Amino acid sequence: MTQRVAVIGAGPSGLAQLRAFQSAAAKGDAIPEVVCFEKQSNWGGLWNYTWRTGVDEYGEPVHGSMYRYLWSNGPKEGLEFADYSFEEHFGKQIASYPPRAVMFDYIEGRVNKAEVRDWIRFSSVVRNVVYDAEGDNFTVTVHDQVNDRVYSEVFDWVVVASGHFSTPNMPEYPGFERFNGRIVHAHDFRDARAFKGQDVLLIGTSYSAEDIGSQCWKYGCKSITVSYRTAPMGFDWPENWREVPILSHVTEDTAHFSDGTSKRVDAIILCTGYKHYFPFLPDDLRLKTKNRLAAADLYRGVVYVHNPKLLYLGMQDQWFTFNMFDAQAWYARDIIMDRIAIPADKQELMADVAEREAREDAGTDNKYAIYYQGDYVKELIALTDYPDFDVDGACEAFLEWKHHKAENIMGFRDNSYRSVITGTMAPKHHTPWKDALDDSMEAYLQN
Ligand code: FAD
Ligand code: NAP
Ligand code: MG
Repeated sequence: MTQRVAVIGAGPSGLAQLRAFQSAAAKGDAIPEVVCFEKQSNWGGLWNYTWRTGVDEYGEPVHGSMYRYLWSNGPKEGLEFADYSFEEHFGKQIASYPPRAVMFDYIEGRVNKAEVRDWIRFSSVVRNVVYDAEGDNFTVTVHDQVNDRVYSEVFDWVVVASGHFSTPNMPEYPGFERFNGRIVHAHDFRDARAFKGQDVLLIGTSYSAEDIGSQCWKYGCKSITVSYRTAPMGFDWPENWREVPILSHVTEDTAHFSDGTSKRVDAIILCTGYKHYFPFLPDDLRLKTKNRLAAADLYRGVVYVHNPKLLYLGMQDQWFTFNMFDAQAWYARDIIMDRIAIPADKQELMADVAEREAREDAGTDNKYAIYYQGDYVKELIALTDYPDFDVDGACEAFLEWKHHKAENIMGFRDNSYRSVITGTMAPKHHTPWKDALDDSMEAYLQN
């Protein structure tokens, strides 16, 4: 009997899974029946921009964490699909740090070409997944929002591709309840123009803090203050930007820091990261992991050690994104299609995870982490027919990117890199990032 596969989520990871199966079918192989459930009304995951915050049109928590004016924060040369280059999609090579709309168009281009849209049930929220040991299958319960109907279907395999940058990590600091301004998490930040003329306080020192601060700076806030828990980011910031130690408390209009200094602020943006959150999974199936390169309990970063018929995509912290999701999706496909066997002994699966964790923990710098994840991508690609590409070349692009950020944090997006898929050098963008206020695709692609 034909196997049935449920894919939860149609973001870059879930779409990679659909493309992986479609590419096998295109070679004449018999593939299982694949059904993808997507809670939003369109595909693209985080790249599918929404102005909404809080809940969506059906009362579901909004998945989107992206904002207007977001540009890729890493060079596109690090994430390019090996089977679908930027040049193939746009008919020419484009500059290295595309805005969100350009990235969305690229993501969509590959799956439009693969004609897999019919495999997706949109506006369909997975509510529950139960494993039945006797039947060795899963019952997946879904809420079809358009028809307001809850139903269940049985699948042999479940692939969880629901992302992990949507449920905010929400710390509280003393005095928050009496602060007069806005307190918002990065997940709900949408438009930097809302902070024009304001003194903004950001908590956190990772990508969200860096980029939301940069957006607010670019679109005219009065000042940025970044409060760090561990260490400052240490970039050469513009003159109205400073880094201070962690918040001790706030009063009605002033933030106080652990070194005794203070700053009057209009708004507080919590750039404090996200939680892996799977409200649709019971204890025996639910991944519990920190945001790290060696995710807990996943053999080869994909197979859930406590139930190997459950596969997870994209659950790692990410240097590599789209092509890593591809490497995982092709690997997952080949397990499902019985082309790759995994060890039957659970101890062996767990030993693989422990080895990955120890190897990650042995690293001390970004270069180590980048090559660690690059090696992981290579490991998976070697196991399947996903096209080989110069992964080390992509690692080098990441290192150059880090270097360019250290050189000029408000100018790093003006650099170009060489594609590791087509070998072509990206052109320089026509306008420096700090002056490019229009983030539309038309504006970006004009010569
Ligand atoms: P997501 O994109 O999160 O997609 C998951 C999908 O699952 C969503 O469509 C969601 O609606 C669906 N879903 C969730 N729960 C359910 C459910 N119960 N039922 C049905 N469907 C469900 N990466 C880069 O490479 N470059 C960048 O510049 C970059 N910028 C980023 C900026 C921000 C603010 C954030 C938060 C992340 C950024 N990323 C970036 C990383 C991002 O994680 C990946 O690019 C990518 O979107 C991850 O793909 P995914 O499919 O794993 O998850
Ligand atoms: P993150 O990388 O997990 O970082 C979380 C930050 O919050 C860390 O600096 C952490 O500090 C801090 N933090 C956590 N709890 C805290 C607390 N209680 N008090 C103070 N600080 C606390 O999360 P992120 O920055 O949101 O990034 C998530 C993902 O989004 C990344 O993949 C990133 O690439 C992506 N992103 C991309 C763009 C873009 O492309 N333009 C923009 C934004 C985000 P410690 O170091 O002290 O733990
Ligand atoms: Mg290969």
